[in-house]
Amino acid sequence: MRRQYAPFNGKRYILDKKTGVAHDLDNEVYDCKIRIIAYDKVDTADDIGEILKNPDFKVVCDHCIAKFG
Ligand SMILES: [Zn+2]
Repeated sequence: MRRQYAPFNGKRYILDKKTGVAHDLDNEVYDCKIRIIAYDKVDTADDIGEILKNPDFKVVCDHCIAKFG
């Protein structure tokens, strides 16, 4: 579920810069654990391509991105 407040600002894709895991908030499930990501470790994008180019990116989330291709 997208979050309109900072640091998410309604963006679809987010990157946890601590773990390097990217999430799609439109397909978010409980196991994404978005709620435990520190706000100062969040990067956001409208386009997954921007996340993939982020130097902190490592993997896509198994729960919200991988299973949707
Ligand atoms: Zn996820």
